[in-house]
Amino acid sequence: MTAVLEIEALRKRFGGLAATDGVSLEVHAGEIHALIGPNGAGKSTLINLICGEMTPDEGKIRLMGRNLAQASVHERVEMGLGRTFQITSLLEDMTVLQNVGMALQARAGGNFRIWDRVVKRRRIWDAAERIIADCQLEERETALVADLSHGEKKQLELMMAMALQPRIMLLDEPMAGLGHVESLKMIEQLRALRAQTAILLVEHDMEAVFALADRISVLVYGRIVAQGSVEDIRNDPAVREAYLGAEDELC
Ligand code: ADP
Ligand code: MG
Repeated sequence: MTAVLEIEALRKRFGGLAATDGVSLEVHAGEIHALIGPNGAGKSTLINLICGEMTPDEGKIRLMGRNLAQASVHERVEMGLGRTFQITSLLEDMTVLQNVGMALQARAGGNFRIWDRVVKRRRIWDAAERIIADCQLEERETALVADLSHGEKKQLELMMAMALQPRIMLLDEPMAGLGHVESLKMIEQLRALRAQTAILLVEHDMEAVFALADRISVLVYGRIVAQGSVEDIRNDPAVREAYLGAEDELC
């Protein structure tokens, strides 16, 4: 199996606290790898280290075999690291189609020859329509972003990130703030995306994790205490123990 993302002995300290304490993991092509653990376990820190928002003290991160140590946030995106942006970066007074089209146009760049322009523009809108259809948001294609529900905005965010054709998508709690029906839609959407990109999924919603994950890593106090299939993790005594005293649900 091809490792899209390889993390090796990664460490990050905040003063006396080891938020990431020797983490190693791999995410393979076509895989949804879930990262779970109690609050404060270091899940968001790990995501921030991978996408370049934070610099590790030690260890290696490789994307498609290339070391990311010197790569900026922007370069990592160009190398195939996908992430969702904040909902606030959506253009509220434009339509769903226009927002996705803009994300695609940004990828295509502005420096193509004038004769290509018309053709290219047509291709961009066709591609935008395809992406929207993949996410089952066709009926909302001409809706203004301002009129979308919170769940639909989350779906749109994800689509715009997908427009950059990532090799791996990093998702930090995509179900947060969604109602039950919206969560089910998001689960469907993520399942459909697996064919196009590997996913590293940090998520509190265990229904979603168990429905989607091919493999799960459990993080506690900055360390991975268990790694395996949904079945392995459900039955792991160490995982149960780690959560028993914590009075925190298995998340
Ligand atoms: P999780 O996402 O699993 O809830 P975080 O990665 O947000 O956990 O946090 C892990 C630990 O690192 C927590 O104890 C948190 O308080 C600490 N932490 C996170 N970011 C910072 C920061 N920028 N400065 C200092 N401490 C931080
Ligand atoms: Mg977090």
